[in-house]
Amino acid sequence: MTAATWTNWARTETANPAAVVHPRDADEVSRVLLAAADAGRRVKAVGSGHSFTGVAVTDGVQLQLDRLERRLQVHGDGLVTVGAGWPLHALGPALAAQGLAMSNLGDIDVQTISGAIGTGTHGTGGRFGGISDQVRALELVLADGSVARCSPDDDPDLFQSARVGLGAFGVVTAVTLQCEPAYALHAVETPMPLAEVLEGLDDFIAANEHFEFYWFPHTHRTLTKRNNRVPQGSPLAPLSRARAYVDDELLSNRLFEVLNRVATLAPRAVPRLNAVSARALSAREFTDESYKVFASTRSVRFRESEWAMPRAALPEVLREIDGWVESSGERLPFPVEVRFGAADQPWLSTAYGRDTAWVAVHQYHRMDHTRYFDAVQSILRSYEGRPHWGKMHSLDGEQLAELYPRFGDAMAVRDRVDPARLFGNAYLERVFAG
Ligand SMILES: Cc1cc2nc3c(=O)[nH]c(=O)nc-3n(C[C@H](O)[C@H](O)[C@H](O)COP(=O)(O)OP(=O)(O)OC[C@H]3O[C@@H](n4cnc5c(N)ncnc54)[C@H](O)[C@@H]3O)c2cc1C
Repeated sequence: MTAATWTNWARTETANPAAVVHPRDADEVSRVLLAAADAGRRVKAVGSGHSFTGVAVTDGVQLQLDRLERRLQVHGDGLVTVGAGWPLHALGPALAAQGLAMSNLGDIDVQTISGAIGTGTHGTGGRFGGISDQVRALELVLADGSVARCSPDDDPDLFQSARVGLGAFGVVTAVTLQCEPAYALHAVETPMPLAEVLEGLDDFIAANEHFEFYWFPHTHRTLTKRNNRVPQGSPLAPLSRARAYVDDELLSNRLFEVLNRVATLAPRAVPRLNAVSARALSAREFTDESYKVFASTRSVRFRESEWAMPRAALPEVLREIDGWVESSGERLPFPVEVRFGAADQPWLSTAYGRDTAWVAVHQYHRMDHTRYFDAVQSILRSYEGRPHWGKMHSLDGEQLAELYPRFGDAMAVRDRVDPARLFGNAYLERVFAG
């Protein structure tokens, strides 16, 4: 056991755990939980630290999953059980080696599989739920040290609570995923005026498997992204190394860092800088293996808040945000990311029970985000907005209970499996009111 100060990627949260443990299997997790409970300490598993909130923070025992057994068992019909500590960037190629792929992913692949599902991480696609929607069973070590398995047939209430479980229901040691045969995606990225995107929105979502767009505040420009499966056996046409370097490394990261530094020193230049950013990312088209197309590199550090809303509310929400940006004088060098998902079933999923649009707002880490994020939160409060559990917001349990029809049921499961709040922390005390 060693302890050191832990910091999340965004540098918004730090923790000084009393001890850090790297368990190798469920039995070891079980022993650690029992010892911690005896010593009166709390326990928290941590993934890659890519949540912006304090969801993974602990002053007790921190469980790091890097040495947890990397099992990968293929059961047939696309079902695969994987160890909870797999980082997504390693899982993609490992599944591909078995001829399989996950059906949807977010826009980075640095997270662990358990961390990603733990906060309801999602990608985009009108017919797809969040990543936790691809989960068919979980193996967890509960607060009493027992190893539990849950699925739609086996303790379904625990399954629906723990799929997006914020680390509150147990330590996940294995995840069974419904995968599909490995596939390639044809990616088409096209700049488009915001009005045109909003006018054709229903068609864009229906006609594309994975549609999203980035809107550049202070302008009415967007960059749209459409990813669609190509027939099995189609030739790949990946970006050339030079183009990938210029677009993804130089423009999206290095030049973008420079623009953000300029924006920090000269905020009044931001509207012009955003017009430059929007133009710099020009149209492009390529075809590559799915897990490579979904993920991008993000080296410019930022803060983020993201809200899920009923899909129909999106145009009005964007108009309100645009109105606030214009009247507030706030300068925002980062694009707003807009994604879509189907209604899904995990009780604490932000897309629970409703077709969803997500609006994600970002601010460069050297610039203050508070006024912007507060304004967006207050707009989204009027549209039944649900905050991403891993991104910044200030809602509490009472407010969140009104947004999730099965919130009370999930809290009853928590009372059953963790009555003494072994997995508690300050964030859970706020968002679960206890
Ligand atoms: C640059 C960047 C890009 C992002 N892109 C997206 C995106 O495209 N879509 C999206 O929805 N989100 C996105 N996020 C948010 C991110 O996916 C989530 O915050 C995710 O939870 C981070 O995973 P992690 O492995 O870092 O987990 P952590 O942040 O370390 O932990 C998250 C939660 O999972 C719990 N947990 C982890 N492992 C276990 C376990 N084995 N058992 C029980 N609980 C566990 C932790 O206790 C904690 O509650 C992004 C974040 C960043 C910084």
